[in-house]
Amino acid sequence: MDSEKNESARRGGITVETEHIFPIIKKWLYSEKEIFLREIVSNACDAITKLRRLSSLGEVSGIDEDAFRVDVTLDEDEGTLTVTDNGIGMSEDELTRYICQIALSGALDFINKYEGTENGDTSGIIGHFGLGFYSSFMVSDTVDVITKSYTDAEAVKWTCGEDGEYEITKPEEDVGRGTSVVMHISEDEGEFLSAYKIRSILEKYCSFMPTPIYFTSVKEQKEAEEHKKEHDHEHDDGCECDHDHEHDEEPKPINDVHPLWQKNPSECTDEEYKDFYRRVSGDYREPLFWIHIAADYPLNFKGILYFPRLGNEYESLEGQVKLYYNQVFVADNIKEVIPEYLLMLRGVLDCPELPLNVSRSYLQNNTYVAKISQHIVKKVADKLTGMFNNDREAYETLWDDIKTFVEYGCIRDRKFYDKVKGAVLLPLTDGGHKTPDEYLEAAKEKHEGKVYYATDKTAQAQYIASYNAEGIEVALLDTIIDTQFISTLENDKNCKFFRVDADVADALKAEGGDAETDSGVEELFRRVSGNDKLKVTFSRLKDAGVPAVITEGEESRRMQDMMKLYGMGGDMPHEIALTVNADSELIKTISADPTSEVSEKIARHIWHLSMLTRGAMSPDELREFLSESYDILGYVK
Ligand code: ADP
Repeated sequence: MDSEKNESARRGGITVETEHIFPIIKKWLYSEKEIFLREIVSNACDAITKLRRLSSLGEVSGIDEDAFRVDVTLDEDEGTLTVTDNGIGMSEDELTRYICQIALSGALDFINKYEGTENGDTSGIIGHFGLGFYSSFMVSDTVDVITKSYTDAEAVKWTCGEDGEYEITKPEEDVGRGTSVVMHISEDEGEFLSAYKIRSILEKYCSFMPTPIYFTSVKEQKEAEEHKKEHDHEHDDGCECDHDHEHDEEPKPINDVHPLWQKNPSECTDEEYKDFYRRVSGDYREPLFWIHIAADYPLNFKGILYFPRLGNEYESLEGQVKLYYNQVFVADNIKEVIPEYLLMLRGVLDCPELPLNVSRSYLQNNTYVAKISQHIVKKVADKLTGMFNNDREAYETLWDDIKTFVEYGCIRDRKFYDKVKGAVLLPLTDGGHKTPDEYLEAAKEKHEGKVYYATDKTAQAQYIASYNAEGIEVALLDTIIDTQFISTLENDKNCKFFRVDADVADALKAEGGDAETDSGVEELFRRVSGNDKLKVTFSRLKDAGVPAVITEGEESRRMQDMMKLYGMGGDMPHEIALTVNADSELIKTISADPTSEVSEKIARHIWHLSMLTRGAMSPDELREFLSESYDILGYVK
């Protein structure tokens, strides 16, 4: 600095508190350093918004609103990152008032209280106390502010080192209206001199800020110019090669100043929603559907929430809803705002009622946040019931994709269930869908209050076929969550769910139903099954071709399934029972002479075939079954 300038320089220290605040800024905000750029760029946008407002109020004239812009310039060689706006600017007086005399007392109280508590949640500190500008010191040794007010006040330059000592001078060069914040990046923060890094920070935090933001890397620009020069040199004037034209294109802002969520839902097209989804989620697949929320006072928030198409059940259900504050990015994956069971949603929420810097603990205990969350749940439920009522056919095609989270939501939140229960569907093994009420209505005659379901369409095909043959529909509940959802429905609908192999439905039995016990046959089946406690009952089944059916009690099987699910080595005995069809010719044959060798062979084979029908044969049993089958082929010959 030359001595002449030193003469006219006004010097000062940012009051006594700065000696506390600077080290604290570095220490407390360490974990989220990159937000400094958001703070500085959003101040720049605010400065423009303020001037735009003055202009629209007629307090200033001659402002070209189309020229409003923010420039972020990285000079890798100089080691500076500069944010320039052509907004309202500051006079020297304003500069000292707004920047130099920060009202730190509140912040200091706060810091005193938390100092020493390593885990104290201080992420809210910057925004709460208007220290946004000072976050630039997290990455800089020195920060310059060169500013010229929109009034005719003179331009000023403020330079401040990390010790908090500043000086105000007259800028060397001519400055136009607005403010430039020049951050001299510290040596150990070199990563912020990478164009890639800065671009990604801007992309994350500034993609939807309300003023066009342009990014320039001086190094990249120089390289492009070199390249162009070489190219021009190599090709003479008549060259028609145009591969270099992309460099001549008008630079584009990095942000979208009118994000879709700010528009009136009635003015948005499906194409716009889909494009926006790609942009915010990075998912190239189309979303299933979306909800555009524009909640008025007192909630006052906007957002677009998308239901993603999930590829398979192993795909992470973790979605991404981004939280914004007046188009400024605040946080990702806000578990505190979106109920856990809706976390697979993707999209954006813009809540101007929340402070820009929100801490997790703030969100967790905030009644306003709780209300937003409830509103979202309501909107999701309304959307689902709306689709169900308006286009049942389309809704059914979506059901497989959404049922996991609808069911999960119902299990987790009774209120959610109460809101969507009219739109819950049971998929049927024949590919159709019914609501539980529709199913139970149809069941009235043959199996009142009972819902039959399969968990595996292939393994249980025989059972399903015998139910279908009697006109009984079978629901297909083949996911882990389905089986838990069953209890929710049973409680609410006063019905009982039975897996197809849990029970021989009355409807499958012929006139007269039960038959008399044949103790010889009973004894025989106990012997061939190797289970002397096997429960054997005798019935008349309509399908006379089926000699016997194995069933397993619903309750004990559910218990087994649950133990398996929780990895508890559930070696509880399966409560297996055999229903013998007294009308079957084979059973009549063995009944005539249950102790004969042939009867034993037949009974063993029937037992194995029933096991096979359940898809529940052990490898040993399978081997035995095969050899016994070959044996039988010998008889046929
Ligand atoms: P906050 O933005 O929360 O008020 P900051 O520390 O970020 O706190 O900024 C303090 C004040 O400095 C702002 O309120 C504003 O008046 C002024 N200021 C900061 N940046 C600019 C800018 N680029 N143009 C005009 N004024 C600014």
